[in-house]
Amino acid sequence: MSMETRIDKDSRSDLIAKLTRENDILKRDTERYRLLLEGSQESVWEWDLERGIYNFYTDRTDFQHMNATESEMAVDLWSKHIHPGDHDDFVDDLQLFIKSSKKHYEKTFRVKNDSGEYRWIKARGAARHDESGQVVLFAGSVLDITDSVDMERNLIRLAYYDKLTGLPNKEKIKDDFGKIIAEKECDEYIAFVHINIDNLSYINNTFGYSAGDEMIRRFSGFLSGYFVQGHCLSRVNADEFLIIYRDFGNIEDLERDMDTFFTAVRNEKLLMHSEIKTSISAGISVHGVHGETFFDLLKCSDVALYYCKNNGKDQFRIYDSNTGKKLYTTIDLINQIRIGLEKNEFQMHYQPIVSSKTGKLVGIEALARWYHSKRGVISPGEFIVAAENSGQIKTLERWIIEDVFKQIEAWRHLEEMDIFVSINLSAKGLIENDLITYLEAILEKYIVNPEKIEFEVTETALMNNIDQSMTMLNKLKKMGFKLALDDFGTGYSSLNYLKNIPIDKVKLDRSFVENIDRNTKDQLLVKSIIELSHRMELEVVGEGVETHFQNTLLGTFGCDYIQGYFHGRPQDKNQINTWIKQNYI
Ligand code: C2E
Ligand code: CA
Ligand code: CA
Repeated sequence: MSMETRIDKDSRSDLIAKLTRENDILKRDTERYRLLLEGSQESVWEWDLERGIYNFYTDRTDFQHMNATESEMAVDLWSKHIHPGDHDDFVDDLQLFIKSSKKHYEKTFRVKNDSGEYRWIKARGAARHDESGQVVLFAGSVLDITDSVDMERNLIRLAYYDKLTGLPNKEKIKDDFGKIIAEKECDEYIAFVHINIDNLSYINNTFGYSAGDEMIRRFSGFLSGYFVQGHCLSRVNADEFLIIYRDFGNIEDLERDMDTFFTAVRNEKLLMHSEIKTSISAGISVHGVHGETFFDLLKCSDVALYYCKNNGKDQFRIYDSNTGKKLYTTIDLINQIRIGLEKNEFQMHYQPIVSSKTGKLVGIEALARWYHSKRGVISPGEFIVAAENSGQIKTLERWIIEDVFKQIEAWRHLEEMDIFVSINLSAKGLIENDLITYLEAILEKYIVNPEKIEFEVTETALMNNIDQSMTMLNKLKKMGFKLALDDFGTGYSSLNYLKNIPIDKVKLDRSFVENIDRNTKDQLLVKSIIELSHRMELEVVGEGVETHFQNTLLGTFGCDYIQGYFHGRPQDKNQINTWIKQNYI
């Protein structure tokens, strides 16, 4: 073997050994990269723009379709599988990047996997440019971030959307408001319509919380169907919704729209298996007129809403400064009640109730009056509600009860006349948990027969808290007191539940009596209520009887007792004493 051949052979085996070594290194590197890829859960891609080669390496079984053939360009392949919502943005962005001198690329978008399901992908890459600034090589990785996007979305959903209705919550609508204001045309009107479902607590108490929830869900569905475009809806509180109402011509348009909306709500059935009619109240404030910020507008719409709720509900009101003043007077009133109690400005008046058969006095209703030192007489219609809302009702009603008991004791000489005295109990006063203990103490203090005392409660008061109210009524009955259902016919008037309440009397509301001279339908209604009450062994008092005709008609219908200006107005204790002497003694 020649020297030359040996060297040749040596160098060849060296070369083979070297190549084998390099091959091993390459294999190990490939293995290492594969492991790295597996471990990182990323897929990698490289795109040689000079040679038109695109490669995609993945360990995932559901991304095999992304492996390209050389003939297919990366952009075309990717764009074929990208979500239509992200497509144009992806293509524009990629083309812009390739033309730019930027080195790093990052983009999040959705791509269809092999089973046709869209996954959220985060693509990252780096580019190498030639001397002319053209991208020649572009490579990077993609990572499936669907799970963390889902989690983030769920977190956003939790933070920004109401679980029961799926509507945006207060935080979200606050953010949306900021965006709306930033984008709004200068002549565009925006209003806050702050809605409250009337009497949701009644539904919860009577039919249970699931019925209340059903009502809220149905109402929210109705709202979403009604306000289809442009307006923002949100559930800001348990029974409160806020609509950012947009793009109306002027305030008259807004009022007209609200009238139509309210009519639609009244026709809507929000409880499946019930005939209960539902209504809403809404307070409205207008951007630029009543305030600029979210909280200013919310405050004004809230004041207007509060006003509606205190004025019979089932209505809307656009905020005006008078509404605000009215609220401030309410707050002022709360202070004044405290002072009034300290200064003894409250007084009880008494109105006679007579038997319709004999025309004789049978009872007296005690009605509170407030002789305010500066404002004159303030009606109980105004101060009872304020006292209830401010928590002063307990003090006030305890004062009333004691004053009336004191008076009854003083009227002992009327005992042989067998006269009952009725006392009104407010919704909140009825469910004060120490009412019974208080009454036991007061019965010890004054010589008064509980059977001659009647407590008047309204239907609405009972319905606000049916369970507690029923317990209380039963306890009052046990103590010997009589009970009357006041303002009968103005509340929910389900005659059916009358049989479950331990009452002795119903007081037919003045609004029925008012029209019986003219309206034959009302006559029929009054007649039926009286008959039905009698069948349930309840006595009936006709309230607000002002004319001879009303008095006679009620007598003909069999109404047991009559109360009203026709027989006598509410009067203070001295006047009522004189009245009794003149008329009955
Ligand atoms: P109410 O219990 O329905 O009392 C009857 C109201 O009708 C009284 O108004 C009375 O003055 C008035 N009225 C009586 N007869 C006639 C009539 O022939 N024509 C007309 N137009 N009105 C008549 P008042 O005294 O202003 O009381 C209003 C409401 O305030 C009462 O309605 C009652 O719900 C509440 N209230 C009055 N005093 C008290 C009280 O001491 N405690 C509580 N909790 N509420 C009271
Ligand atoms: Ca009454
Ligand atoms: Ca009444």
